[in-house]
Amino acid sequence: MICHKLQDKLQQELAKMKIFFMFMGPIKSLLKIQKYRAEIKLNPRYNRIYARGHIYWCGALNDGLDRGNQPYYCPIGWQRWSFYVTENFYEKFNGWCICYHGTKFSSGLSILLSGLKPAEIYAHGAGIYVTPSINYACHPRYAEVKLIQSSAQEKFFKSGEYVQFVLECRVHPNNINNIASETLKAGSTEIDSNITNDIIEWVINHQNKTVVDFNDPESSIVCTGLLTRVTDDHPGLLRESQWWYKSHLCNDPICCLLDIDRHYLQQKNQRRDT
Ligand SMILES: [Zn+2]
Repeated sequence: MICHKLQDKLQQELAKMKIFFMFMGPIKSLLKIQKYRAEIKLNPRYNRIYARGHIYWCGALNDGLDRGNQPYYCPIGWQRWSFYVTENFYEKFNGWCICYHGTKFSSGLSILLSGLKPAEIYAHGAGIYVTPSINYACHPRYAEVKLIQSSAQEKFFKSGEYVQFVLECRVHPNNINNIASETLKAGSTEIDSNITNDIIEWVINHQNKTVVDFNDPESSIVCTGLLTRVTDDHPGLLRESQWWYKSHLCNDPICCLLDIDRHYLQQKNQRRDT
């Protein structure tokens, strides 16, 4: 029964997400969402696929745009669904840094609809926790892994595929209160080949608000898009996920959402290695 409810909930979530997947799609559905948050608009001109053969670069991007004092690395393997934020985006957000916030399916859209809440458990001080590393943001502790099972979802995914999503945000460097180390017990294990573990979490000034509304012109952080990753097999088997097994990873459904038993995944991963 609970399982059915969850499945229904997921279907609802995916039905809403579908809007992000069909750029310039049915405007009527988009208007329904806009009742909750009038400002969510898609900006398909800036949709991107980050992969070899699509949009791809090595090291920090050097395209002349000012993204604050922080480098911007290619989020390889991810697809970007761009939101319309404002006219003259590059003027207004000149000097703002790109960062990511991993989230669960059940909370993801409510975040999109209302803004970001400050963290409830905070290791590096109060604020909103984000990261410059897509590979850190997508750890299942933050970004839920979901297996696509239902035929109803097959219009958008193939059954048996796994999907994750991460919010792409912009923050002004003055609003980064703290740059600090990872909190997933990775120790000396490399999480991201571009970003060292000691600077992988950013704590953003939440301006003492319970929710930082993306639409507030004075907001310290804005959400500029949704990054999704769809994989044929579990993303825990990817080369870039190998650090998961040397850091925190558990079976607790309120913590790490793998959509597979953690020990089974690890065995499968070891078999793949040999
Ligand atoms: Zn966990």
